[in-house]
Amino acid sequence: NRRIVLAARPRGEPVPEDFRLEEVPRPEPAEGQILLRNLYLSLDPYMRGRMSEGPSYVEPVALGAVMGGATVARVALSRHPDFKPGDLVTGFGEWQDYALSDGTNLTRLGPDFAHPSYALSVLGMPGFTAWHGLLTIGEPKAGETLVVASASGPVGAVVGQIAKLKSCRVVGIAGGADKCRFVTDELGFDACIDRRDPAFAEALRRAVPDGIDIYYENVGGPVFDAVLPLLNVHARIPVCGLIAHYNDTAPPPGPDRLPRLAYTLLVKRIRMQGFIISDHYGPEFAAFLDAMKAWVAEGQVKLREDIVDGLENAPNAFIGLLRGENFGKLVIRIAP
Ligand code: NDP
Repeated sequence: NRRIVLAARPRGEPVPEDFRLEEVPRPEPAEGQILLRNLYLSLDPYMRGRMSEGPSYVEPVALGAVMGGATVARVALSRHPDFKPGDLVTGFGEWQDYALSDGTNLTRLGPDFAHPSYALSVLGMPGFTAWHGLLTIGEPKAGETLVVASASGPVGAVVGQIAKLKSCRVVGIAGGADKCRFVTDELGFDACIDRRDPAFAEALRRAVPDGIDIYYENVGGPVFDAVLPLLNVHARIPVCGLIAHYNDTAPPPGPDRLPRLAYTLLVKRIRMQGFIISDHYGPEFAAFLDAMKAWVAEGQVKLREDIVDGLENAPNAFIGLLRGENFGKLVIRIAP
């Protein structure tokens, strides 16, 4: 059983030496337990926060402990009355080949789950994050303009496609021409601006002639600096993520932006609200899953996956995620 543990706490950007691949004996299920063969592991930006010490909304991973993450797994052995070998399940697991479970907090993936890894993206946590933040905080109305960054990733892609279904004008922001082409041509956004373009702020301004009514915040940093002057009166800002800052070790250079932000919120009567998706599971997740399964089946919501083979490649893939090297939902395929 191979597993990846946290070897050191990163200073700034994580490096390969912050992780360690270990080999331990495969665990044996006791009565009432199942042995899971992990097939897919989701890599997500929030994992950077768990690598650091200090207060946050999730516990840090202890040094030497196995890195955690959502998985799709197949039941390999069962000593549990409700599971049989071959069943496909999803749940919160670890960066490892095999795991034991007593069945609690596992969700079975039925035959309607034609594409099991989607349980980690469009039909799972990132898709639900997009749904909740956009519909509950963003409150999109027909004809409004929405802007979202990391637009080719699982959260941004789903935000933009739901906003299109709600008849908004949708402008994506992504890193590079290939990602932007995908966002407009495949996902159907009205426009997409390359955040790496030196003239980015001006290009964004031209792409939103009527201003911005909803800015779905995934990144922060220079993208937010460009968005702020373009916000309309009564704009809404669901604050979902700030990936441009996850590796920060010091405040960003430049002037203190807080007074200008507060003044803009005041005079334009803007609502800016953060949320953490783990607070919202329950009936809302069931409603999301029903709607999203139908949209995916009808081709109204599409998702690109960036599948990397081999558990041993998870650390480098994760380091790349924080640099924008992934193109689509980053998933590690641990076993075929
Ligand atoms: P993605 O798969 O889209 O991956 C992250 C992307 O962020 C990169 O591909 C890159 O896209 C972009 N990025 C990386 N560094 C920077 C930077 N310095 N400045 C601007 N963009 C950058 O991630 P997800 O869709 O899974 O997550 C999107 C956001 O949502 C994250 O901030 C995440 O933390 C947050 N989130 C929050 C949740 C909550 O409960 N509040 C739950 C789930 C996710 P590109 O190269 O195209 O710019």
